[in-house]
Amino acid sequence: MRLKHGLLVAPLALFSAMAAMPVTAQSPNPAPVAAAPPQRTIIHAGTLIAEPGKPPRQRQSIIVEGGVIKDIVDGFVDGPVVIDLSNRYVLPGFIDMHAHVTGPSESELGDGDPAFWVARRHLIRQSRITLDTLPVLRAVLSNGFTTIRGLFDPASISYDLRDAIARGEVDGPRMIVSEPQFMVAGGDLDTASFKLREPLEPIVKNRGSCAGVEDCRRAVREEIKRGADVIKLRTADLAMSDPRIRAVEYPEEVRAIIETAHRLGRKVAVHSAATAPTLQALEAGADTIEHGPIEDSVVAMMKKTGAAYTPTLIVVQRLMPLLRKSGITRDLYGEARASALKAYRLGVPILYGSDFMPALAASQSGEFRELVGAGLPPVEAIRAATVNAAKALDMSDKVGSIAPGKFADIVAVDGDPLADITVLEKVGFVMKDGRVMKR
Ligand SMILES: [Zn+2]
Repeated sequence: MRLKHGLLVAPLALFSAMAAMPVTAQSPNPAPVAAAPPQRTIIHAGTLIAEPGKPPRQRQSIIVEGGVIKDIVDGFVDGPVVIDLSNRYVLPGFIDMHAHVTGPSESELGDGDPAFWVARRHLIRQSRITLDTLPVLRAVLSNGFTTIRGLFDPASISYDLRDAIARGEVDGPRMIVSEPQFMVAGGDLDTASFKLREPLEPIVKNRGSCAGVEDCRRAVREEIKRGADVIKLRTADLAMSDPRIRAVEYPEEVRAIIETAHRLGRKVAVHSAATAPTLQALEAGADTIEHGPIEDSVVAMMKKTGAAYTPTLIVVQRLMPLLRKSGITRDLYGEARASALKAYRLGVPILYGSDFMPALAASQSGEFRELVGAGLPPVEAIRAATVNAAKALDMSDKVGSIAPGKFADIVAVDGDPLADITVLEKVGFVMKDGRVMKR
C-alpha cells in the first residue's frame, strides 16, 4: 500500500520510551539517522499557539537548546541558526493516544477477520516486521505526531523500537506502549479465536491473556517488567454480539489487572464495546476508555471517576463498510459521534486517537476533522491531541504545549487551525526533541 507521503508501507510494529533524548555522542549507533541538534536554534513563529485554549500570540521567537525549549520571547530575535516560520501557525507536536504501528495493512484489513492479521504477526519474522515498520514510523512523524500511545502490538517489537527511537537510532515518535492486550482467557482474540490447528495455538498465544486474580496480577507484573509503559485492557466484544453474555470478565479479574497496573505506576486504557464490562472497568479505576459508542450511564460514570475518553471516530467511520459486511446493522458511527459530543459537554476530557494502523496511516490526521464534525469547537479538537493527551499520560511537564523546559516538539501549518481544522491534515514542518524531521 502507498501512504500519502509516497512511502511504501507493509504491516508493521513498534514503540517507545518516555525519555526520548536527542542523539548524543554516547549513542551506541555509529551512524545516527539524524544529526544532533545544533546548540541553539531560534524559531520565528508568525502565530504561536503555545498552549491550545489560551490566546495565540503573534511574532514570537522560540529558543531551542539541547532538544528542549529554553525560552519564548516577544518579537523576532537573531541567532546562529534561525528557522523562519514567520508566516505560519506554530503548535505543539501532536499526540495520538491510540496507535498500532504493527496493525493491519490494507489487504489484511480487507479480509475483515482480525484473528488473521494478529496470527500473522506471531508467525512472520520480527526482523521483517521491524523493517516494514520503519517507514510507518516516519509517516507518523510526517503527520505531525511526535508522541504516540501504542496499545497492542502482536509482533512484540514495540519495546525495542521505543528504546531505539529514544536513543536516536531510529526516526519515529516518542512511544508510550503496551505490546499485549490484557484480556481474560476466552475473551476476544484469545488463542481460541484463531481457528488454528491445536499444535499451533501456543505460537499465537497473547501474553496478556489471564484467568483469575492471581494469574492476572502475575501477567501484569511480568509485562511491566518486560517493558510496558501502560496497560491495555480489552473487555470482550462478545458481550455486544451475543445477547446471552453480560460480561465475560469477572469484576475481580478486572480489578486485579487495573489495581496491579496502578500499584506499579501504570495507567490503564480500556477497549470498550459493551456497557456492562465498561462500567465494571470504570468501577475498578480505568483511566481512559477507548472507542465506543458509549451509553449515557458510561458517560456519567466517567464524569464521576475522572476517566478520559478516546472516541476514535475516524476508524469507526472508515470501518463502517466492513462492520456492515459482518452483519452489524447499528449506525455505530452516528452513535459514536453523539457519545463524543455528550462526553465533551459533560466535561469528560476528550483525547485524540486515530486507532492508527498502516492500512489507515493516511487518515491519521482525520480525527481532528471528525471531532469538529461531531460538534466540538476546533480548539477542543486541538486540545485533545495536545494538553488533554499530555495530562492523560502524566507528561504535562514535557509534552502537549510549547513552554520553557518542555521537549522541543513543534509543528507548523499554513493556515489558522482555529478557523479551519483541516489545515492540520497538511503539516508542513515537524521538529521533535529539537531535531527537524520535516520541512
Ligand atoms: Zn485499537
